[in-house]
Amino acid sequence: MPTRRLYYDDAFLQEFTARVMHCEVLPPDLNAGITGTVWGLILDRTAFYPTSGGQPNDLGKIGDANVLDVRDEGDDILHLVDRKPSNPDVNGCINWPRRFDHMQQHTGQHLLSAMFQERFGLPTVSFHLGAEICTIDLRGPEPTAEFLEGAERAANKAIFEDRPVNVRYGTADQLAQQGVRKDVDRDGILRAIEIEGADLQPCGGTHVKSTGQIGLILVRRCTKVRQDWRVEFVCGGRSERIARHDFHLLRQTAEKLNCAAEDLVVAASRVLAERDANFKTLRSAQERLAEVEAALALQTTPPGTAGFRVFARLFEGVPADYLGFFATAFAKSEKAIALLAASEGGHLLFAQHPSAGKDMNALLKQVLERSSGKGGGTRDFARGRLTEESQAGKAVALAKELLSVS
Ligand SMILES: [Zn+2]
Repeated sequence: MPTRRLYYDDAFLQEFTARVMHCEVLPPDLNAGITGTVWGLILDRTAFYPTSGGQPNDLGKIGDANVLDVRDEGDDILHLVDRKPSNPDVNGCINWPRRFDHMQQHTGQHLLSAMFQERFGLPTVSFHLGAEICTIDLRGPEPTAEFLEGAERAANKAIFEDRPVNVRYGTADQLAQQGVRKDVDRDGILRAIEIEGADLQPCGGTHVKSTGQIGLILVRRCTKVRQDWRVEFVCGGRSERIARHDFHLLRQTAEKLNCAAEDLVVAASRVLAERDANFKTLRSAQERLAEVEAALALQTTPPGTAGFRVFARLFEGVPADYLGFFATAFAKSEKAIALLAASEGGHLLFAQHPSAGKDMNALLKQVLERSSGKGGGTRDFARGRLTEESQAGKAVALAKELLSVS
């Protein structure tokens, strides 16, 4: 005997009695996050919905046991529970907040899919009800912002009209005559869900009694996934939570920017423009400072053997760009060589005036062979970065030593 699916005719049934028809120990299912011993129960009847058609399974209790998963196994429904029932006659109890949330999302999906198809000619090819967000995948041209808003508005209008949601049974032909949204190629009597005046769709899932119970639909992002368009949405209690969350975000951001929420875009644009201007000013000040420091360094670095001026320094508290400004200014002088490092970030920069005739890239490679890091460049200008920034001082000293013997 197949399991009688009580939710087919009464999706609002939260408690039921049933008889255990089959009970066996199942191996752990790591894929489903089930690590301990579990029992698989088949009952003569159940109100537990198994994962199928994009809607996740119910949770709850069967007797004292917690229901961990519910699976559709053809004619049977398999309940995975964490202990064996002591009695063949059991009481089942559905985790109702979870189920009602699923019914709000699922019925909302029927309505939203119907609006996309009817008004914009975009059929739904798949549906997913996630823990946070629900999605439908639409096929066809990219839905514009007007399409998304239009479908959302039309669906919410049907919610405000509180239309009845009915269960209908019929053959594929009978349903086709009644204008079913999705053609089915199955024999026998099929179950379909009708939203009066809006939609008729074959479905074995659980749904609310009238559209008013969906509460509100909020359409969120739309992204391209392979050849389709994935529309994110939430319904009912999720809409309330997400709208509240969005408002908190807006308010917190507005407080940070010291403005009203309505002025956020203007305020954020102003802050970004100020940041960009400050960055340019700071960069140009750093460049001038580096030139002055390089000129001073040239004065205090008299030419050594064969006229080389070798300057080695570990800078503290400067960005990597500063090394570049300094090195460029310093290496403008004949036979000048700058061996520089920044203690923050472990940046290295070796540069020379071409007349020095050394190979900065080869020198950098030699240093990086001994202290791990990455980098490269030309004969006159080479940059690198050490894996350990604390090694920057040693790396400069090593470069100077290697240079003196080359
Ligand atoms: Zn459905």
